[in-house]
Amino acid sequence: MIKVEALKKQFDDLTVLESIDFSVKKGEVVCLIGPSGSGKTTLLRCLNLLEIPNNGTISISNKTVVFDKKAPTKKEMLALRSFSGMVFQGFHLFPHKTVIENIIEAPLTVKKKKKLELINEGEQLLEKVGMFEHRNKYPDALSGGQQQRAAIARALMMEPEVMLFDEPTSALDPQLVREVLKVIEKLAKEGQTMVIVTHEMNFARRIADRVLFMDNGYIIEEGPANEVLEQPKEKRTKQFLQLLD
Ligand code: ATP
Repeated sequence: MIKVEALKKQFDDLTVLESIDFSVKKGEVVCLIGPSGSGKTTLLRCLNLLEIPNNGTISISNKTVVFDKKAPTKKEMLALRSFSGMVFQGFHLFPHKTVIENIIEAPLTVKKKKKLELINEGEQLLEKVGMFEHRNKYPDALSGGQQQRAAIARALMMEPEVMLFDEPTSALDPQLVREVLKVIEKLAKEGQTMVIVTHEMNFARRIADRVLFMDNGYIIEEGPANEVLEQPKEKRTKQFLQLLD
């Protein structure tokens, strides 16, 4: 489903990702963990081409884009982007649109479907994330947890092959975290392929098939969630998880 090879990303002189290789199978849930500044968000943003890698290759579904000195074409960017849906820390809903308007906005411009049909599909997704009753509210009338669930439904509307979550609960009050994590767990049970940057280790333990531990722009260790989180091999992983005596 996803294959990343020799991916490198620099911001001016700062190398943030160095020779990243990993793959994600269809239906798999992969959590990216690691200290602040290790490159997790940048890696996720590269998958959606919100950041353009300097070198390497990204394949999603049947589309491969090679990055080198030449910038990718707009067509390549759109093709790769169409396979993924992104959920950000800060929700990013359009403030002047209601929940249902937010949800149908992208497919209305991209897909050749009638508005009524999209509203119908949108309402079903809102039902799934427990937001149906709030469909006609504006974002500022919603809690952070409700906004994030609406943002998840919005990303799902484009029927992405893979959902990318960037610390989806880190902007939420503790009592609202659970409701968002429950929605993500439900998607995992349904077989949705997902890559999730998270600081919630208990959540990663429950949901992830595989965990990648990043430090300083490298993937230091990867493996089944219980192995990496309970019995990591690398010293830096142990330090991060506070498993050293
Ligand atoms: P956190 O857990 O704190 O979100 P992270 O592991 O997701 O951290 P990134 O946000 O990917 O880390 O950042 C990796 C490094 O890249 C940091 O040193 C950061 O300052 C730098 N960086 C990220 N985005 C940019 C940018 N647009 N321009 C310059 N430097 C950037």
